[in-house]
This record gives sequence, C-alpha cells and structure tokens, in this order.
Amino acid sequence: MDVKERIKKVAVLGAGDMGHGIAEVCAIAGYEVAMRDIKQEFVDRGMQRIEASLKKLQDKGKVDSADDVLSRIKPTTSLEEAVKDADLVIEAVPEIFDIKTEVFGECEKFAKPKCIFTSNTSTMKITDLAKATKREEKFAGLHFFNPPVLMRLVEVIKGEKTSEDTMDILIEFVKSIGKTPVRVERDVPGFIVNRIQAPSGALLMAIIEKGIAEPEEVDATMRRLGLPMGPFELMDYTGIDIFYHAMKYYSQSISSDYEPPEILEKMVKEGKLGKKSGAGWYDWSTGRPTIDSDKATDKVNPMDFTIVEINEAVKLVEMGVAKPEDIDMAVKLGLNRPFGPFEFAKNLGEKQIIERLEQLSKQFGKKIFEPAESLKKGELEKILSGEEKEPECKEFSTIKIEKDSESKITKLILSRPDRLNAISSEMIEELDRAITMLWDDDSRVIVVTGEGRAFSAGADLTSMINHAFDFLEHNRKGERVFRRLSEIPKPVIAAINGYALGGGLELAMSCDIRLAKKSAVIGLPEVTLGLIPGWSGTQRLVKLVGISRAMQLALTGERITAEEAERFGIINKVFEDDKFDEEVMKYAKEVAERCAPISMAIIKRLINKGGEVPMDIGLEMESFGAGIVFSTEDLREGISAFLRKDKPRFKGR
Ligand code: NAD
Repeated sequence: MDVKERIKKVAVLGAGDMGHGIAEVCAIAGYEVAMRDIKQEFVDRGMQRIEASLKKLQDKGKVDSADDVLSRIKPTTSLEEAVKDADLVIEAVPEIFDIKTEVFGECEKFAKPKCIFTSNTSTMKITDLAKATKREEKFAGLHFFNPPVLMRLVEVIKGEKTSEDTMDILIEFVKSIGKTPVRVERDVPGFIVNRIQAPSGALLMAIIEKGIAEPEEVDATMRRLGLPMGPFELMDYTGIDIFYHAMKYYSQSISSDYEPPEILEKMVKEGKLGKKSGAGWYDWSTGRPTIDSDKATDKVNPMDFTIVEINEAVKLVEMGVAKPEDIDMAVKLGLNRPFGPFEFAKNLGEKQIIERLEQLSKQFGKKIFEPAESLKKGELEKILSGEEKEPECKEFSTIKIEKDSESKITKLILSRPDRLNAISSEMIEELDRAITMLWDDDSRVIVVTGEGRAFSAGADLTSMINHAFDFLEHNRKGERVFRRLSEIPKPVIAAINGYALGGGLELAMSCDIRLAKKSAVIGLPEVTLGLIPGWSGTQRLVKLVGISRAMQLALTGERITAEEAERFGIINKVFEDDKFDEEVMKYAKEVAERCAPISMAIIKRLINKGGEVPMDIGLEMESFGAGIVFSTEDLREGISAFLRKDKPRFKGR
C-alpha cells in the first residue's frame, strides 16, 4: 500500500508538548501539515519550538532543509482550516474527555468522509472517543511518546469498531514517518506501555505512602542499575498531573487499588506539577535535579517493579491486547529499556515471580499485585515459547477477511468448514459488520467464498428459533444483510467452491457475478424440509433465470451441477476444480485493474435499481450517472490510457 497516496495532508490538533512534535515529525517525512491550537500565542509557541528543534536537526545533518520542512506546516487557530482537506487528524489536546469529544464532534463538521481520526490519548478508551464521531470504523489511537521527534515507538490502537483497513493504513503511516508501530488489538486502559507501568506506579505510591523510602532513595537505587532517570524524576519530567490523572483513571477503570494517595492529590492542588511548574518531587527551578547516588538503599528491591510489570504483561496477553514480542518491543522503545518484561521473565523463575507477587499483594493489601491467572496455572513457559493462544480479540469467528492491499482485492471467507459453512445468526451479524467495514474502504473487488469444500450448505438449522415471530425476524435480518451486500458500491464476486445450497445460494445470488468450480452443486432444498427460501431466494432467482426455471428449482428442491447452473444463467463462468482459485483471482484482478471504481459503483446501482423502476425513469437515472462520471479524474485517465495504449491507473476519484 502506498500510504502517501492515501494520506497527503495531516491535521494536528494541539500545539503543545506532543502536538508540535507530532507536526514536526510528519512534516519531516514530507506530509503537508496543519497545526491547530486555540490561541495564536499557543500556535506561535509551537512553531517556535519546531523551528528550534529543526535547526538542531539540520545542524546534525538529520534534516536537509529546516526551511523546507517548515514550509509544509501551516499554523492556524481555525479548526475548519486545519481539517477541511486533511486525510488524517491527529488529536493532541489536553487529556480531558469532554474537551477531546468536543474537538472530534467539531471535526466531524468539517472533515472529509474518508479522513481518518486519531487520538494521541495516553489513557482513554478509543471506543468511547470514537462515539463522538460518525466514523467509528475510521477512528483509532495513535499514541506517540514524548518527545515525538526522538521516540521511535507509536502504539496504534484499535477501538471496538476500528476497521482493519484503518489499522493497516495507520501502521503504514507510522512506518512512513520513520517510527516503529506496535499494534494494540484492544483499547484497554493504558494500552501497552502505560498499562505495564501502572502497577509499578501504584507500587511507587504505596512505598511512599507507607513511608518505606523517600523518592530520592528510590531514584538513586534505580539509577544504580543504569537507568537514565529514576521513576520519580521521570514523573516530574512527564508531569505530576498526568501521572495523577492516569492513576485516577485507572482507579475508576481497572481497580480502586490505583486510587492516588493524598500526597499526590495535594501536589496537583498546589500546582507542583514537576518540571513544567518548576517543582514536583524535586526542585526544577534551576534545571534538572541532581540525585545523590549515596541515597541508594536496599529498603526497596528494584526487581519488585519488574515483577509487577511482568504480571501486568501476562494479563495483557491473557486479554488479547498484544503478543509477548510486541509487548517487549513496545516497552523497550517506549521506555528506552534494554529488555522487555517477557525477556526479563525468561531469567526469573515462575515460582519466584508468583511468590513475590503474593508477598507484595499481602504487604500492600492490593489485589492488583496478585499473580495473573496464567501464572497461577503455571503457563508462563507456554507464553514465553509463543504457544499462548492468539489474541482473543479476533474480530470475527465465523468469517475471515483477507485483504491484499496491492491488488485491492478483499476475500470475505465463510469460515465454519466443519459445518460446511452453514450460515448461523452469528455469521449473519458478522457479515453485516464486514459489509460496513468494506463499504468504503480501498478494496476494489470483493470475492466471497467458503473455507473447505463448501461455499455454504445453507442456513444453520441447529440455530433455528422456536417462535414464529423470531424466525420471521431471523429471515428478515438475513435478507437485509444480503441486500446490503448487493448494494455495496463495488463489484462482489461469489467464488462458489462447492455446495451452494439454500441460504448459501441466496448469498451467492446477492453477489454481482458468480464463478463456480466444476464440481460445485447448487440448489434450493428448503421445500423438502418444509421451509421456504427466506433470504430473498424466491425473488432473486426469478430475476436471474425467469419464472419457469425458478419454479423448477424452488418447487422441487432439485440440485443441479455448476455447468447446468451456467446454462440456467445463475453462474457466469465455470472453472476446472484444480485451477479454480487461480482463475478466480485472475478474474478479480483483471476487473480491479481494468475497471474504474466510480463507474463500477454507478453501473451496479443502475442495473440493480433500474430494474425496479419504469424504463424511462431508469434511463433518466442513467443520464444522471453519466453526468457524474463525466467529472471524474478517472474518466480522463481512462481515455488517456486508451490513447497511449497503456493500462489505466484509476484512483477512484
Ligand atoms: P499540552 O498541554 O502540552 O498541549 C495541549 C495543547 O492543546 C495546548 O496547547 C492547548 O492550548 C491545546 N488545546 C486545548 N484545547 C484545544 C482545542 N480545542 N483544539 C486545539 N488545541 C487545543 O499537552 P500534551 O502533553 O501535548 O498532551 C496532549 C495529549 O497527548 C494528551 O492527550 C496527553 O495525554 C497525550 N500524551 C502526552 C504525552 C506527554 O508526555 N506529554 C505523551 C503521550 C501522549
């Protein structure tokens, strides 16, 4: 995927610590950037910081021309100016839910429908923020680390409705700005890096609260291990308020064990926010504080922080948030550490980890330190060897989606091979969601097929319902979903790789073109079961083959071969079994390459809807359609490719 085709302009909202850095990084990578803050002085300050940083990078030879980069950044106080032609919005306004949702609500008014919205939130649920918009599938978390210019990690966070396409584009985008993306498959509070640190933050607070050691003692002890900063220094550097709000948020969203102690609350109230206010745990008024290394103490055991983090990392794997190797990578890059929690865990015995966690949980009365379930079950080895289950957050369980960003063909695979891909209520729900995902993504052609030896043997009779009304609704739902598939504005090809019976055939008939394996078997057996085709079979079949043949198939439940179905007009092409997959993909690829997307969308609508209205209205619709394509870039490209005897490069614009 060429991400620079998809994303040309980035709008960064907020010109503060993160916003100005993110804008700078994007402009260095060649993107046009609009940086928006609410007051001119904030925008100016952000631009000054960018200028100073670029100068340093230029002096070090890391940037060719600071002026060139600067010329790509347009500072503004107008939200409309910033987002109106942006392809990607990166929000970096204060970590306050109401401000963020208000900002996204406003963006929705001005942004293009295709624009992807992202939040740089450190803690908030992406799913909740996405609800402030009308594009939940085009909304994700893009969590940069401070300072963005130097830190390589960006967590790309999936909300409940974020589409795979959005995730893929963002992963490529992050790579294109020279950063390392880590996929966060579930938007749990704190995502990966901050979440891993949450229990060690709680442990630090518990140590202070219980008077076990002073901040400087802890920092000196930790620095002795070679860490560039102690944890309290780091807290001051990032902002005491940020730490406090994160703890507060975790106490509400994870466990009350995270409730911030009084001392932290007091510091926030008194404005002792760390480096930015001149004082926090340390005095910063004359620069970075000096930590007295003699204060290192054995009152705290540095390994305890690692152990609670390992415990949290195991919980993240259990929850399907990320894989162990991604967690290690995120922690190393996000926290500049030499090892990730799982790499540490390899050198510590499971027994030692469990024993210490139990002691800590007892000593501080905190359940969050209790060993994770997999540790209790002795499964650490399994996780470390990569045998742990794949993240549970698999978006679908009865279908699969395989996207090929190069050919722009997406396969939608019915995936219940042991049940001959029988269509259950769950599959209907999942197809519905998949259709929404694929509706306006960048795939050009969709191929619907089945896993194993069937396309689909029909509705799953075991999931049938007891009450007549529920059954009616079940049929209605299926029919609506199939209708949505027939309306999706791009060609849908059914690749019938085996049985297509009953609901399976109805699904295939809701596609635009049907290709079949020679050995495929087709039929509507409902009548032999005392049922009727309830997912549009009685209506679509007539349109495809006329009354006589529709009667033959629906009234008798007769099964016919692929070749017969081709003669009937149900199947467009039949391929030999051993060449089937290859031929289908060749066919789909040719359509995706040769045909203009907007033309295909309009033709599809005209053929489907035109057949339902009187001819002269259909013809009117056709002339409107012709008017629309006349203004597309693709028309110019189609004609010029024809004249230059070359393949057209359609953009769908
Ligand atoms: P900041 O306070 O330095 O900057 C926020 C900026 O947003 C301010 O300049 C403010 O004027 C501006 N702003 C307020 N309302 C706005 C609006 N409606 N439109 C545009 N701008 C508006 O904060 P920050 O440290 O840059 O943090 C921003 C976000 O990044 C937060 O969500 C934070 O949690 C997250 N984050 C911060 C860090 C960090 O270390 N600072 C790291 C990762 C993520």
